[in-house]
Amino acid sequence: MKEGWEAVIGLEVHAQLNTDSKIFCACSTQFGQEPNENTCPVCLGLPGALPVLNREAVSNAGKAALALNLHINEESIFARKNYFYPDLPKGYQISQYDKPFSEHGAVEILTSERDEGGRPTEWQLKRFRITRAHIEEDAGKSVHDLGDPSKSHVNLNRAGTPLLEIVSEPDFRTSWEAYDYVGFLRRTLQYIGVCDGNMEEGNLRCDANVSVRPAGQEKLGTRAEIKNVNSLRFLQKAIDYEIDRQISLIEAGGVIVQETRLWNEKEGKTYTMRSKEDAHDYRYFPEPDLPPLEVSSEWVETLKAELPELPEARRQRFMREYELNADEAFTLTGERALAEYFETAANAAQNHRAAANWILSELLRELKNAEIDISACKISAADLGGLIRLIDDKTISGKIAKDVFADMFATGKAPGDIVKEKGLVQITDTGAIEKIVDEVIAANPKPVENYRAGKTALMGFFVGQVLKASGGKANPAAVNEILKQKLDG
Ligand code: ADP
Ligand code: MG
Ligand code: ZN
Repeated sequence: MKEGWEAVIGLEVHAQLNTDSKIFCACSTQFGQEPNENTCPVCLGLPGALPVLNREAVSNAGKAALALNLHINEESIFARKNYFYPDLPKGYQISQYDKPFSEHGAVEILTSERDEGGRPTEWQLKRFRITRAHIEEDAGKSVHDLGDPSKSHVNLNRAGTPLLEIVSEPDFRTSWEAYDYVGFLRRTLQYIGVCDGNMEEGNLRCDANVSVRPAGQEKLGTRAEIKNVNSLRFLQKAIDYEIDRQISLIEAGGVIVQETRLWNEKEGKTYTMRSKEDAHDYRYFPEPDLPPLEVSSEWVETLKAELPELPEARRQRFMREYELNADEAFTLTGERALAEYFETAANAAQNHRAAANWILSELLRELKNAEIDISACKISAADLGGLIRLIDDKTISGKIAKDVFADMFATGKAPGDIVKEKGLVQITDTGAIEKIVDEVIAANPKPVENYRAGKTALMGFFVGQVLKASGGKANPAAVNEILKQKLDG
């Protein structure tokens, strides 16, 4: 950021809640149907049709609220947000306004700036406040006809899909803090199973409010809102662009106007979309067709009991308990199934470090190559742990273990069975190793002469020869020791 300036960022995240049916009617939320197939009088907004609240949507919202440390209000009120849009046939969206479902939350997350290569520079634990999370319905979609620009179509399959809008306080100071926060939200919602969190497909959408002010000034600057950025990286770039744009404009004597802007990824710029409405423009009023939403404290307790350990808490626990660094813990907790796999493997191996190393290098690479995720992996976590124990108790060498691993990955066989079948047990018997060493020494008189004349770097060559002659099965430490004795002695 330019010297003497500070950026202020507040984020609004819309998360599509995972439910089978829509929020106020029984229509399916399934994707990819024929246009307007999933519609009925309620979500078409026909006069006289009455909404009925979907319990599942409220449970999902409740779990999300708890995961974000929000207070769930015993009573919340649905409100009509009035505006005209072709994909909103009722002329209003049912949302919540002055009495939202939940409010006063905060999260503590690890965040870091990034260097030129995009690598984290220093992870720090920071706290960001969440103003509120309220329940609302999604609108439909306008589809512009590319073949005939005079035509546009309206698809209302998405109309009435349940959303949770999560509004933050303006607590972010850099684009990377915003990036880490939205990434955190996405992982958390995926973990607890309430949202798919796919930004490209639009089931998680983020608007960034950005303003700048001279460093040290208390009063907030005028903000611009960047809408509908459909990836985390674009969000980060859009915020940085917007910060620079605002600072340059002010320094050149201009003023920032409150407006909604769009990110254009191709050009790497934000553009004015429209001047920003104020809340009073929407003429909010309580929804007369829905009673207040009431939840009991028992219900909240039940939801709490259903929540799994959350990813950020798990990440921090992994760092403490298994002595992983922040990046390792981040990767290993990225997906719930992977985190569980690691813990099972680590316990089975009784060697956390080795379990982390095998998963972070070999296993993730092979999964990526095979284009499958951990749930489809043929190696069970217990078997990976078993493989590590075979190395640790010196049954097989680390080198042989790589081959056994490849076999396990392809066939799903247990490591002990593969080792037995293929006769891969490591040779630790010193008599047998001595015999091979003698053969290697006898077969290489010239290198032996050179070694004894002072070219001790040749040790590596001898070790390699002995290991090769043993089919990779000789224990390397024993090979080293015996070679040293015979060559030096
Ligand atoms: P609206 O719904 O009209 O966008 P809200 O009051 O709900 O308005 O605020 C939206 C977001 O804008 C919140 O995340 C809030 O923290 C953020 N915000 C408000 N003022 C500023 C500002 N001056 N600079 C940056 N962000 C701001
Ligand atoms: Mg807004
Ligand atoms: Zn419907």
